Amino acid sequence: MKRNKSFDNKSPLLYLVATPIGNLKEITERALETLKEMDLIAAEDTRNTYKLLSCYGIKSELFSLREHNEVEASNHLINLIKSGKKVAYVSDAGYPGISDPGNILVKMAIKEGINVSTISGSSAFINALVASGLSTDHFYFYGFLPKKGNEAKNELTKLVDKPETLIFYESPHHIEETIKLMHEVFKNREVVIARELTKINEEYIRGSLDEIVNIDFESLKGEMVIIVKGNEELKDKAVDEGMIEKKLKSFMDKGASKKTAIEILKEEYNLPKNLVYKIAQKL
Ligand code: SAM
Repeated sequence: MKRNKSFDNKSPLLYLVATPIGNLKEITERALETLKEMDLIAAEDTRNTYKLLSCYGIKSELFSLREHNEVEASNHLINLIKSGKKVAYVSDAGYPGISDPGNILVKMAIKEGINVSTISGSSAFINALVASGLSTDHFYFYGFLPKKGNEAKNELTKLVDKPETLIFYESPHHIEETIKLMHEVFKNREVVIARELTKINEEYIRGSLDEIVNIDFESLKGEMVIIVKGNEELKDKAVDEGMIEKKLKSFMDKGASKKTAIEILKEEYNLPKNLVYKIAQKL
């Protein structure tokens, strides 16, 4: 076990800074202050980050760390941080490491005894989820599906029983194929497409997959998040099974045999006998 106090000044520190997902004003004062103080800002795309930094008059030096050079670039950054340089990492939008590079850098930094701290901002999936109207109690973030149709369908099939709200990232090039696959796999579930978040053309499209599969896909431009309602059928069944198990236990605790408890429950709640038997077998 290791306990690391981010700001104890005893260990070197790597900052992960969240950047805007669209509207350039969505960056915190703390993020700007941190970026200003850095000796080096490592970025997924230095040109994009340069544009953001220019808006705020930040002139720190930039360094490229992207998916294809992540290990090599991370080694370089770790050496710089250990030598006392102040370094932050930013991806193109939102949080580093969320469908973006950054996770390898973080793992390597932790291994080398470097503290890691995040400067908050927005992430497209959080914005989309909280305004979707679907359940926010439990959710499953998938990110991008594989590009090949058969692989994407396999992945969706694995998710079909999940009771959690499902979250996917998508681009305009694949949205039509993805919605058609979702319709095949998830049938007529409720879906929300959250598009161009925080930008002037922000849009939420809420409806059933039967409706959304017939949308004009040409109208779905820009970046988007797809949120799919979790499998409610199984959620209800889980509640019922939990209730049946509790009742069976309570009758048996009061002295009824398993057989009698099954009979009482079946009669009292008008339940299928085989379902009650199946649950009773676990006791
Ligand atoms: N790191 C980012 C985050 O924390 O959200 C995600 C980066 S990932 C490469 C880009 C994907 O995020 C897009 O294809 C889209 O699915 C989603 N995304 C990013 N910005 C968005 C926005 N403004 N509106 C809707 N979706 C967005």
